[in-house]
Formats: sequence, C-alpha cells, structure tokens
Amino acid sequence: MVGEINVDLVLQGYHEFPTPGREVLVDDFSMVLGSASAICAMGLARLGDPVSFLGKVGDDAWGRFCVDAMRDRRIDVSRIVVDPALKTGVTVAITSPKDRALVSFLGSISALRANDVPGPVFHSFDHLHISSYFMQESLRPGIRGLFTEARRLGLTTSLDPGFDPSQTWGRDLHETLQEVDVFFPNEVELRALSGTDDPEEGVRRLQNGRTRIVAKLGALGSMTVDDGTPVRVPAFSVKALDTTGAGDSFNAGFLHAWLRGDPVARCLRLGGVCGALSTLGLGGSARQPSLEEAEAFLESQG
Ligand code: ADP
Repeated sequence: MVGEINVDLVLQGYHEFPTPGREVLVDDFSMVLGSASAICAMGLARLGDPVSFLGKVGDDAWGRFCVDAMRDRRIDVSRIVVDPALKTGVTVAITSPKDRALVSFLGSISALRANDVPGPVFHSFDHLHISSYFMQESLRPGIRGLFTEARRLGLTTSLDPGFDPSQTWGRDLHETLQEVDVFFPNEVELRALSGTDDPEEGVRRLQNGRTRIVAKLGALGSMTVDDGTPVRVPAFSVKALDTTGAGDSFNAGFLHAWLRGDPVARCLRLGGVCGALSTLGLGGSARQPSLEEAEAFLESQG
C-alpha cells in the first residue's frame, strides 16, 4: 500500500452548527486514524492479509498516533518515513446524525512523491493498492509509472480515486487505468468520471478491456459489469453509526476475496460486509471485521 496518512479528530453531536465568532459544544470527541489508504490497509490487515504501508508523516504526536495504530494491527510500518520538515495531515470532522462538515489540513498527505517509492521495493509483494488519486497531489503524476513498474514485476494493482477537491477529474486518470486491475469509484466519483448518472452505464463507459470497474453505491450496495452482464450486490442492512471509511473497508474486503481468486459476486459480497460492519463504529477502522466475523455475518444473512 502506497499512500497518505492523516489523523481524524471527530467532534460528534453538535447542538448548533458553529458560525464565525461563536463557540458551540459537542457531546463527544474521538481521535482516530484517518485517510483512505490507511483505513484500507487496516481493513486488509484485520482480514489477515500481510500488509506493508509506504507513506510519510511529520515528526509529531499525530504522526506517531497513526503509525502506532497501524503497527498495532500488525501492518509493516518500516517503510513509513518520518519527515521533520512536514506536519502530519489532520481532518477535523464536525458531525451529527443530520449532517457533517470536514476541515482538512493536507500537510504530509500531499507530500509523498513517486521517487519516495524505490522500484525494487515491489519485489517483495504480490499486489499494489493506491487510494486518493486526486488528493495526493505530489504522487499523482507518478502513479501511472508506479503501477507500470509493479505490473512489470508481476504484481496486480488496484486504485481508489477518492474525491477530487478541485472537481476537475483530470483525464490522466483514464490513462492510469490502463495499468490498473481493479478500480473502486463510489457513486459520486463514477458520475464525475463517466459523465452519466446511471451507474451501470458509468461502469460500461470506464471499461477499457482490462480493468475491473467496481462501483460502490453506498446504502444501495455495489455493482460491476462482468463479461457484459451487470452483477449487483445489495447493501447489508445494519444500523450505521458513522459511514466514514466504508468505501475503504469495502475495498479491503473485495481485495481479500479477489486476491484469493473468488468469483466476482463473492468479492462484492465480502466487500459489502466489510463496508457495512465498518459503519457500526466511529471512524473508519474501529469496527472492521476479521474474516471469521465477516463470514459469520454472511452466513447469518443466508
Ligand atoms: P465511499 O465510502 O467510498 O463513499 P460507499 O458509501 O459507497 O463508499 O460505501 C462502500 C460500501 O460500504 C457500499 O457499497 C456498501 O456495501 C457499504 N455501505 C456503505 N454505507 C452503508 C450503509 N449505510 N449500510 C450498509 N452498507 C453500507
């Protein structure tokens, strides 16, 4: 996993939304590991996959908190660079069951570059996943090259675009997809990248003959098009508390099944279970299921 790392400071249950010049109170606060890449890594590790993370943090309390959280999940953090010139990225989430607002300081998130990733590192691995294509401004120009190198060395590859804060959704992503085995847009990203509101048509438009396009559709579940035929898996019904990172946990479940060679409908189902169960806890990684928990949940659903 090559990607960004940041901490999420979650201020939960505001009574009134803050406005300039005022102070408001919230019911609860928690500090959790954030960032799409790290949450996906945590999900895979929870499912029992060996995961190594390559990224950057600042030499600060937030960075240490994030690296410790990953180490506690048995993720190999030996390739995470602590750069004293950087500040670790922080997202403040002000949430209530009604709505939420996010304020982010990118810091180390946008600092990673492709030449921080030594090519030979890929020799030790089977798969390369990258998330937050648009947010990782310095890495973005080199992502296609990293995937090309990984594939040359026999790895499979996957990419989650994440939201594009500039909302320009550059065409370079379509070129990068030539080197990607599995692509994981959510509904908003799929619409922006394909130019259609219909997810099935969106998946068809992004198909390039080699990339498996997996559309994540929130509470509607997920879908792909397999040999011309749509395959849909509805979402599992859970009492969602916080959907932060559901898509990253979905990616972890899908990839776990895909890497062991499961048929695509099973990959969508394991992704869906991991996405659904992750919404039961605050933040992205607290309630990610183990493989046993995911399978028990699947069995209980028939
Ligand atoms: P993202 O977090 O990237 O926006 P989604 O919101 O589509 O992605 O969530 C990813 C997956 O997680 C969905 O395809 C679905 O399987 C599962 N999921 C998300 N929200 C819920 C929910 N409220 N209830 C059940 N499953 C959910």
